[in-house]
Amino acid sequence: KPISKYSEQEASDTAQKLRKTLNQWGKDYYTKDNPEVEDSVYDAKYRDLQELEAAFPSIVTPDSITQRVGGEVLSGFTKVRHEIPMLSMGDVFSKEELVEFDDRIQKNVGYPVDYNVELKIDGLAISLVYEDGKLVRGSTRGDGNIGEDITKNLQTISSIPQTLTKPVSIEVRGECYMPKQAFADLNKQQEERGEAVFANPRNAAAGSLRQLDTRVTRARKLDTFIYTISTFDDLQVATQHEAIEMLEELGFNTNPTQRVCHNLDEVWQYIDEYQAQRDQLAYGIDGIVLKVNDLDLQGQLGHTVKVPRWEIAYKFPPEEALTVIREIEWTV
Ligand code: NAD
Repeated sequence: KPISKYSEQEASDTAQKLRKTLNQWGKDYYTKDNPEVEDSVYDAKYRDLQELEAAFPSIVTPDSITQRVGGEVLSGFTKVRHEIPMLSMGDVFSKEELVEFDDRIQKNVGYPVDYNVELKIDGLAISLVYEDGKLVRGSTRGDGNIGEDITKNLQTISSIPQTLTKPVSIEVRGECYMPKQAFADLNKQQEERGEAVFANPRNAAAGSLRQLDTRVTRARKLDTFIYTISTFDDLQVATQHEAIEMLEELGFNTNPTQRVCHNLDEVWQYIDEYQAQRDQLAYGIDGIVLKVNDLDLQGQLGHTVKVPRWEIAYKFPPEEALTVIREIEWTV
């Protein structure tokens, strides 16, 4: 039934059902690191809920998954409060929606802006806090406000510096991921031992990082790409692009594929390039991220309760769907 034909009561009942399903899937994904369904199935249901709530704003509840960062804190870990919340990210799936995003930004800012475009790494978000250049705390995103203290686990990852090249006090954020080869090796090993295999590298990374025994984390060959400076100390940085260069200078692993795009044609060029190379990359990506490059403008644009207004993810079609499309292309 089209949304326009719903009564308010029907919309409210349907939204409740959708929330229940999404919460259950979210629990399997975020807490057990063992998803029940593919991300594309989750994303489609999430979209249904978003559209319903947009058509009937009165049915929105504060605990709806559209109004909060999905994720929970495991009980075995010390809790960490994020001084600056770790938000989620809006996503789009088509060229038209990307144009709408760009239109919104231009309308808000008053002129066309540059975007820093990055790969969307398929891992989990981490926060690292340094005092006078020394790593003092590392944590997961959790529910966005409260995460898990996983400092000891993160210290086992060789790409995370214990000491920075400058004695700055900063918080940085990025992605912890499991390279494809490490994922294949781990699942092979799990199978040989008769243990459960992981659904995908993202869940394997999350499960490996949230281990009470740090020896398990150490054995899992995790890696990182750091892409955000959330508190700057007195670092002279004006754009997201420069922020990543500064992170590299400080000693972090950063992804070399970032690119400043001056318009959406250049963004599409980037998308085409990386969608074609996706299989050859040593790590999983599920799309690209578009970020307003100017950090002052980012601050001006701000965020909703759940997502920054200055960035958006363009998600690639799921890999299985692509395989089907390719098979069809080959057979006709
Ligand atoms: P998200 O994972 O889609 O996007 C936000 C995250 O992107 C950030 O937290 C960060 O960790 C990551 N990221 C990767 N590269 C980045 C870069 N270059 N710059 C900035 N951030 C980068 O959003 P989310 O709120 O964490 O999770 C929602 C997604 O999780 C859904 O879209 C769905 O695909 C998946 N999910 C799946 C299930 C399931 O059952 N399969 C359940 C719940 C959620």
